[in-house]
Amino acid sequence: ALSAEVRDLSLVYRGRGRDVIALSEVSLGIAQGEFVSLIGPSGCGKSTLLRVLGDLLTPTQGTVSIKGRTPRAERLDRRIGFVFQEAALLEWRSVLDNIALPLELRGASRRDREARARALIELVGLTGFEAAWPRQLSGGMRQRAAIARALSTEPDLLLLDEPFGALDQITRDRLNMELARIHEVTGVSVVLVTHSIREAVLLSDRIVVMTPRPGRIERILDDPLPRPRS
Ligand code: ADP
Ligand code: ADP
Repeated sequence: ALSAEVRDLSLVYRGRGRDVIALSEVSLGIAQGEFVSLIGPSGCGKSTLLRVLGDLLTPTQGTVSIKGRTPRAERLDRRIGFVFQEAALLEWRSVLDNIALPLELRGASRRDREARARALIELVGLTGFEAAWPRQLSGGMRQRAAIARALSTEPDLLLLDEPFGALDQITRDRLNMELARIHEVTGVSVVLVTHSIREAVLLSDRIVVMTPRPGRIERILDDPLPRPRS
């Protein structure tokens, strides 16, 4: 089954006197549970494609569907999780209350959302920090919290835009291992934007290589690092 599909997608940023064709004729299907990485030089449209998938941008042309529905419907239902380079945590809420926030917005009871948040805190390795304030967390821990928050509503699709790009290499390597495990445990479909081919090879089922001016898919690498499947 397909988790997400884009067809003949184009996106033009309209500027004063200068339009930028950020995406041109991009078509891609993402299977349920698949881990796809988008790589390519700066400006090739990786972030733009991710934002179109998550309904943060509307394409100029082409179609997008997430589980056969519009990205709008999926976003409103909180069936899409986002993580950006900087975890935008609410500084006046505890780690637990940050992670539970999407469930609160969805109307879940306090008991349900706390139970779910606690399970996610364990999943991402933040046990013991439930009551901490975001400012007490390191950069890597903030990204762990952001991943937990993104997963709180059990989304179909997790969209990651350079989630560990601001972290040192050791923390980054460690979080990539954790991300692989989280993907395996939850079975969520993942689209990851990264600059690092190494990261993409280690994590992905498929790598989409993009090229700029205009942003297109240059090629798709299937099964970059064959590994045993359970
Ligand atoms: P990447 O994520 O691969 O670096 P982006 O999707 O950010 O690429 O950008 C693709 C192209 O669109 C680039 O040429 C970039 O400068 C341009 N672009 C991105 N965002 C905007 C914007 N808000 N307005 C105008 N041009 C933009
Ligand atoms: P990335 O990490 O994806 O390469 P950038 O540093 O290119 O991000 O862009 C950071 C922000 O600036 C994004 O919100 C992007 O949409 C916006 N942006 C990028 N290029 C342009 C542009 N030419 N005009 C206006 N906004 C832009």
